[in-house]
Amino acid sequence: MLVHPDSVAVNRRVFCNRTLNLRSISVIGYDMDYTLVHYNVEEWEGRAYAHMKQRLLEMDWPVAPLEFDKTLVERGLIIDVETGNVVKANRFGYIKMAKHGTQTLEFSKLRKTYARTVIDLSEDRWVFLNTLFSISEACMYAQMVDLLDDGQLPNGIGYRELYSTIRNALDQAHIEGELKREIMSDPERFVELDADTPLTLLDQRKAGKKVILITNSEWEYTKFMMEYAFDPYLPGDMKWRDLFHLVVVSARKPAFFMNRPPIFQVVNDDGLLKPNVGKLQIGGTYLGGHARLVEECFGVDGERILYIGDHIYGDVSVSKSILRWRTALVLREMEREMDTIELDKANSQKIRDMMAQKEALEHEFSEHRLDLLRIKNDYGEHTDADPEVLKKKMADLRTQLQQLDVQIGALVSEDGRTSNPHWGLLMRAGNDKSHLTRQVERYADVYTSRVSNFLGYTPFMYFRSPRGSLPHDPGSARG
Ligand code: IMP
Ligand code: MG
Repeated sequence: MLVHPDSVAVNRRVFCNRTLNLRSISVIGYDMDYTLVHYNVEEWEGRAYAHMKQRLLEMDWPVAPLEFDKTLVERGLIIDVETGNVVKANRFGYIKMAKHGTQTLEFSKLRKTYARTVIDLSEDRWVFLNTLFSISEACMYAQMVDLLDDGQLPNGIGYRELYSTIRNALDQAHIEGELKREIMSDPERFVELDADTPLTLLDQRKAGKKVILITNSEWEYTKFMMEYAFDPYLPGDMKWRDLFHLVVVSARKPAFFMNRPPIFQVVNDDGLLKPNVGKLQIGGTYLGGHARLVEECFGVDGERILYIGDHIYGDVSVSKSILRWRTALVLREMEREMDTIELDKANSQKIRDMMAQKEALEHEFSEHRLDLLRIKNDYGEHTDADPEVLKKKMADLRTQLQQLDVQIGALVSEDGRTSNPHWGLLMRAGNDKSHLTRQVERYADVYTSRVSNFLGYTPFMYFRSPRGSLPHDPGSARG
């Protein structure tokens, strides 16, 4: 039976930024890759990496010893193609951590490089890692920056050119077909099945929602993956195609949400195309086109359409900012994130306690310092303490503070490390929200680790955002 929303395991919850009433949603659109169909990142991105590597080997680049390491980078980090760094920024765009190639930048170097920098993702200097598909290219980039610095790449290649060469190699691997054929020849290895996903969509369909699929994947791949991931779990002889009121393949998101490219009908299982004339037909399968055609087909505007995808820019940012569709982001990493937060609870409490201790000592130090200032200059209210005694007390406090800083530093560097040994928690940059979190709260009305998490909430759920905390709230650190 259904689990009450409050009893859903924390790592499977749907988190709400903006209130979303599913009862007022008429159309639910889904992305496919890493949304309806989840892949084993190690395997899928590992193969993508291998294909990229092959292309670079063909250019005689010395990449043979390189190995894919999925922990080296993660979604939400940002490549700086001017300096060859991968950085993590906070919600204001200030850079809090960075690696040059595979090496972590020391604090002083970090400050020197980025003290005056605020990230603006619209500048072509920055490449935001929007999806799990970005992991292979960013890992390769970091490793190859090391090779470039070591003089192993052809003369004259800079960090920016290196990035576009890698980008091209991965793009070709995705488009060219061989990688996809490999994936289709061994789906057990690449796909992480979830029997609850088809049921989630079936509930929504039976509850009267129009359920649609809008994927950038080609027809052949989409058909294969959907059959593999959905058909075994549907009742009777129902097939995946029966779940959807509309299917759009090769959608070319974000262009799908921004422009008005032509649309074709897919007329048979082999993917035969014919130009489409007039409105889209409910039940049809299409290639290309754009979002306004979907709104027109169902006679609704963005307020009544919920789109669920994993790509922060291509799925949720443009659909929200251009069309005002309601949005849900699938962020598989939330499961690991919530597990880490649970594991680190004791550690986090210790950090909070020590910070409180540190603040008390700092305050005491400042009081003595001011007292000393007033005694020396003989003004205002001050004690009659012997300045030498005060100085001694301050020296002791300084020593205590230094010791405390070392202990806090050690605990902080432990914090979040089970999530990612290099970068810590995904949604945080130190104490603050990460840049990824900023994107998520701006563009995703709700976010969750996987589509099947909606199952327990039913298609009638009213997701309410929590009252956001503010620094002046009573009970918050300084409230
Ligand atoms: P979606 O997530 O269902 O919209 O589809 C993602 C599709 O985009 C998959 O078929 C991927 O192979 C493809 N894709 C992901 N990254 C790239 C890229 O860098 N170049 C070309 N295609 C890509
Ligand atoms: Mg996707």
